[in-house]
Amino acid sequence: MNPTNDPSLTSWVKSAQGSDFPIQNLPWGIFSTEGDERRRAGVRIGDRVLDVDALQEAGLLDAALPRRIFATGTLDAFIGLGRPIWSSTRARLSELLHEEVAILRDDPVLRTRALVPIEAAVTHLPVSVGGYTDFYSSREHATNVGRMFRPDDEPLLPNWLAIPIGYNGRASTVVVSGTPVRRPLGQMKAPNAPAPSFGPCRKLDFELEMAAVIGVANPMGSVMTVAEADRAIFGWALFDDWSARDIQAWEYVPLGPFQAKVFASSIGAWIVTAEALEPFRVDGPAQDPAPLPYLVQPGAMNLDVELEVAIRPKGASEPTVITRTNFAHMYWSTAQQLAHHAIGGCAMNIGDIIGSGTISGPTPDSLGSLLELTWNGTRPLTLADGSVRTFLEDGDTVIFTGRARRDGVSIGFGVCEGEVLSAPVRDGW
Ligand code: CA
Repeated sequence: MNPTNDPSLTSWVKSAQGSDFPIQNLPWGIFSTEGDERRRAGVRIGDRVLDVDALQEAGLLDAALPRRIFATGTLDAFIGLGRPIWSSTRARLSELLHEEVAILRDDPVLRTRALVPIEAAVTHLPVSVGGYTDFYSSREHATNVGRMFRPDDEPLLPNWLAIPIGYNGRASTVVVSGTPVRRPLGQMKAPNAPAPSFGPCRKLDFELEMAAVIGVANPMGSVMTVAEADRAIFGWALFDDWSARDIQAWEYVPLGPFQAKVFASSIGAWIVTAEALEPFRVDGPAQDPAPLPYLVQPGAMNLDVELEVAIRPKGASEPTVITRTNFAHMYWSTAQQLAHHAIGGCAMNIGDIIGSGTISGPTPDSLGSLLELTWNGTRPLTLADGSVRTFLEDGDTVIFTGRARRDGVSIGFGVCEGEVLSAPVRDGW
C-alpha cells in the first residue's frame, strides 16, 4: 500500500479525523480569499484549505519544484510536472500534516497563514479544461434511455457493447460548482405536435457523472494502451452534465450531443487524486462480449465511490435526496474510454476532462437523471417540502455528493452544486 493511504495515519488538524477530508484524502483545488484574490492551489484537510503556495514560499516543499508553480491560477502547470511529482508532493503534504510532525503544527504564524477556513475560501475552476469529452458508459442508463426513446427497438444499439460511445462537449461552458445555471432556450416538438416551437426548455435535467482530469498529454496521432491511459489520469471530481431533454428529443436520439448539452456542465471544486483512490479500485461489470484486444483491462479499473443527488427547492430548509448509486457500476472504465479516444488519433492535453457518462445503478432508486427517475416525467417525485418534480424548476439547487469509504476512512469529493435560474427573455420570438 502507498504509505499516504495508511488508514492509521492521523493529522494534527483535529477536524480532519472522521471527516470526508482526512489526511488520506488531500484533494486539490484552486481558491482565493477575500483579502487575497490570487488564485492559488490548495488541498482540503478537515474544515480547512491548506495553501500550498504559502508552504512553497515558506520553503517547506521540495526546492526542485519550479517557483510559484502553485500560483499560476490553475493546477495545469503542477499536473504537467508528472506523476512522480504528484506523488512526492502528496507524500510531503501528508508528512507536514501528520500529528507527530512539528514543522507546521508548532509554527502558529505560518499555520494561520497556510490553513484557511473553508468558509473563507472561494473556489475556482481547478484546471483549464481546454477539451471536454463526454461518454455514455452506464449500461443501465443507456438501456433506460433506449427503452424510452426507441421503444420498438433493442434498447442498446448494436455497437454499445463494443465501443465506449462518447461525443465532444463544450469546454467553454464547464463551470465550477456553485455557479448558477441558466435554463436554456431552444427548439422542441411534442410527439403529436405538427411543428416545432421555440422557448425555454421545459425538461431541464441533471446527469450524475464523474469527471476524470487528464494528467499526461497524448500528442496528436500517438496512442495509449489501457494501462497507459489508467496512469495518465490525475484524478476525479464530481460532475453534472446538465441536459435539456425536450431539446434533446427533437434534435437527436438518443445522445443529443448538441444544443441539449451546450449550456452548462458543472465540475466539483476538489479533484481527488488517483493515488488517494488506489484502495478503492474494483472490477466493473463483466464485459460480454469480450472487448477487442486494445480495450482489454490489465486489472481492476473501476472505482467504488458512493454517490448521492439531492434537490433543494428555493426557500426549502432541507434538500431531499432523490437517488443513491455507485461509480463502480460503469460498464466502461475511464481508462478504456481514454484509450479508445486516444487511439483514434485524438490529442489529449493536461487539464482536459472526460465525463464518465450518467451513472445509473440497477434499481429504481439508483438512477442518475430525472429522465430515468421520473420515466420522462410520467412518475413524479415528491420532495420533503411536499412539492412535486418531473424535471427541474427555476430556483432548484441540485447537489451531488460522493465519497469512497473503507477501513474507517472516508475519501470525500465535496459537493457539485448549481442553482437553476430562469431562461433569458427577449420580446418578439
Ligand atoms: Ca452526459
